[in-house]
Amino acid sequence: MKQKTEHICPNCKNQSMSIFYTANNVPANSCMMFSNHEEAVSFPKGDVVLGFCGNCGFISNVAFDQSKLDYSSLAPEEQGFSGTFNTYAQKLASRLIQNYDLHGKHICEIGCGRGDFLALVCQLGNNYGVGIDPSTVSGGVESEASSRLTFIKDYYSERYANYHGDLVICRHTLEHIPNTAEFVGTLRRGIGNKFNTATFFEVPDITRILHEVAFWDIYYEHCSYFNLGSLARLFRFCNFEVTNLMRDYFDQYLLIEAKPVDQTSKTMFENEESVEQTAKDVENFVLHSQEKLSFWKNQLSQIQNKHKKAIVWGSGSKCVGFMTTLGVKDEIEYIVDINPRRHGKFIPGVGKQIVSPEFLKQYRPDIIIVMNPIYCNEIKKMMDEMGVAADYIPCS
Ligand SMILES: [Zn+2]
Repeated sequence: MKQKTEHICPNCKNQSMSIFYTANNVPANSCMMFSNHEEAVSFPKGDVVLGFCGNCGFISNVAFDQSKLDYSSLAPEEQGFSGTFNTYAQKLASRLIQNYDLHGKHICEIGCGRGDFLALVCQLGNNYGVGIDPSTVSGGVESEASSRLTFIKDYYSERYANYHGDLVICRHTLEHIPNTAEFVGTLRRGIGNKFNTATFFEVPDITRILHEVAFWDIYYEHCSYFNLGSLARLFRFCNFEVTNLMRDYFDQYLLIEAKPVDQTSKTMFENEESVEQTAKDVENFVLHSQEKLSFWKNQLSQIQNKHKKAIVWGSGSKCVGFMTTLGVKDEIEYIVDINPRRHGKFIPGVGKQIVSPEFLKQYRPDIIIVMNPIYCNEIKKMMDEMGVAADYIPCS
């Protein structure tokens, strides 16, 4: 790992961040889509410079510039097209309802996007929900619970300190927040002495990225990277007691449940990685990142030299991270996505076009690179039904 820097850790406020990974000129928002190639390649870019905190194990992009991202102008994110993902969301909603006896209760979701998950929890438990998100739109989600849902189109701040209810949900939002302790601290101050308020946060896990050297999972809008240890420590720093800490969704996500306390909690979980363990994982990433990049660059040269037709399956952030970091040019012509709203659009950075799975019937690819290997079976089944035979390379 490189030298220690002047950067202060946004989790624990220690001045002990060491830089270990840099990717320059990555698109400032990998979720954006464009109607033509020129707009897609000229979209603003920023640098990813990952720093590791030797005090709490937190990892953060120290070069992150929030002004490059404006979520209020974006369409809310949606992920509800995969059966695998929907099943997960259903199970999670049911579990929260059961564990916290959420029936006729008040739920607040920070970073609710379109509001699909909030609507699900309110529908299944007959609850009332308030969703806060800069990209949300009222009536964006169809639900039997619509009349019990309120959406506020804004960033979460002190202004919404009174919105917490019985459970605060915050899924896939904290990784977009640079000042993590300030954010969780704002929530804690808002809850005050209402010690029965529960909180549930979900974020991606950096552990797998470090172990598998999954450089495609590092992108600009994710400025904060956690493992179970650093996530639990953040909540303790902010006067929460961790009540549940686990991985889910094929070990890709970290789930934390916490309750407010009035002094620093000493409750720790066995699955929390120590700072030393995290430092070893970071060293592993540094050690193997060059060989991983060489492996993929070699795959791309083979595709080109053998005149094979290759496509990437999955047009989301992983794909943008993969294509940008490898500097893909003519080796891959198209990207496939099952979401019909993405078809015909172009991804930022390399500016490749997104097509439908049906497009492959005529395109006949030789190689399908699957960005998220957990969808491999779903994809193979779909391709078999269409009579498309190809070799699959999962990104792992
Ligand atoms: Zn720290």
